[in-house]
Amino acid sequence: MFETRRLNHKNKVIISAALTGAVTTKENNPNLPTQPAEIVKSAIACYEAGAAVAHIHVRDDEDKASMRFDKFEETVKLLRESGCPVIINLTSSGGQGFSWEERIRPFKELKPDMASFDAGTMNWLNSVVFMNEPGFLELCGKEMIAANVKPEIEVFDMGMLNTAKYYIKKGLIKEPAHFQLCLGAPGGMEATTENLVYLVNHLPENCTWSAFGIGRGANEILLSALAMGGNIRVGLEDNVYYNAGQLAESNEQFVARVKRLAEEMGKFVATPDEAREILGLGK
Ligand code: ZN
Repeated sequence: MFETRRLNHKNKVIISAALTGAVTTKENNPNLPTQPAEIVKSAIACYEAGAAVAHIHVRDDEDKASMRFDKFEETVKLLRESGCPVIINLTSSGGQGFSWEERIRPFKELKPDMASFDAGTMNWLNSVVFMNEPGFLELCGKEMIAANVKPEIEVFDMGMLNTAKYYIKKGLIKEPAHFQLCLGAPGGMEATTENLVYLVNHLPENCTWSAFGIGRGANEILLSALAMGGNIRVGLEDNVYYNAGQLAESNEQFVARVKRLAEEMGKFVATPDEAREILGLGK
């Protein structure tokens, strides 16, 4: 059974906007932001719609998946200069074939509030190996602690959740940890309420969590996670369709829906300051 002690925070929902990702293209959805100015514009619009966190990837000049440091640097600089208080969460994966150094450098040097930590290797979308070997995870854990960057532990299946617990035990991830339960990616667990409940029931006692579904199960996971007291991630990184057959107009369109649904359920979206408190950022 789902246990209430794993509820995140009374009636507050942290919305993370996953703006770009590494896989979605403008051919999939022309509203995808890919270059720094577009990404920052989208992050600000998401903040204004109710998001507390902006999860950021960058692309190269041809809009291909990239870990180019200068693109991260420009994006973070523009976002900080805008005065938008949204929590900055940088990816540490960014696509395939990047070196450990390329993956770590953005969070190490730019010191965002958070960075993603993918807790295991998987056959990504049944096409390539998403490499997160033990040496990389150890390095990632150490460097995040050194940079005072909070890991957003992305978990695509139960094995990754166990792996994350191992690194918590080893002291490479500080408690309380923050989990992002990612369901519906081919190669990982399906986006079903049953799987979400299972993962949540196996989280460490002292943690916060968020969830999202990719594809068909996206709305199911959104509603289930809200009902269970979880936080929510939405955005064009995970879904190009707002509903079946209906392309999303923007990232903020997804954020606005979560805000409406949360408020209908007597909940409130967390401001960035409230989210910082809930997630214990900067501590
Ligand atoms: Zn991402």
